[in-house]
Amino acid sequence: MWKYLTKMSRLVRPWVAHKGLKRTVGLVMAVLAVATAVWGPIPSLASDVGGPVGLAVLPEGGIEIVTQETAQVPVENYKVSQGYRFYHPGMDLAAKIGEPVKPMAKGKVILVQKDRWNYGQHVVVDHGEYQTLYAHLSKINVAEGQEVDTETVLGEIGSTGRSTGPHLHLEIREGNRTVNPKSVLDVK
Ligand SMILES: [Zn+2]
Repeated sequence: MWKYLTKMSRLVRPWVAHKGLKRTVGLVMAVLAVATAVWGPIPSLASDVGGPVGLAVLPEGGIEIVTQETAQVPVENYKVSQGYRFYHPGMDLAAKIGEPVKPMAKGKVILVQKDRWNYGQHVVVDHGEYQTLYAHLSKINVAEGQEVDTETVLGEIGSTGRSTGPHLHLEIREGNRTVNPKSVLDVK
């Protein structure tokens, strides 16, 4: 276990620092749970849903949600329509077309891509220790290399690419693994 603790995610470490032991253990479990996830296009088995179907679930074992100070939920008016699973390495936030999408935290846009498939029109923001992906946008307002903060509108909610309804597909990547957004964002 200490091996994992010392190698613990740099993404979660600052949030763990001031939490009790119980939370620390919970977060380590969360990190272990996602350790095998990979970053890539949405697997063909995944169905990326936009409607309010209420599929979001907490993993078995009741991993606690840790609210932290610097990251925000990228959409203001949303409903979680699909949670993080082994075949769906992100979270779907159903929202209206045109709803503004803002970065989770300040950073730099490192990728703007307008695909017809998979992620559709999407943006990747680098936050230094981790990166975030915003997919299926109807409109993109930023360019590669642009510095952004929590007030910057990256683009607008859409349903481009592999999507069955308007929603944001949000992914958090740290190194070569993905992190469950629910473990670091205060989603409702
Ligand atoms: Zn998705």
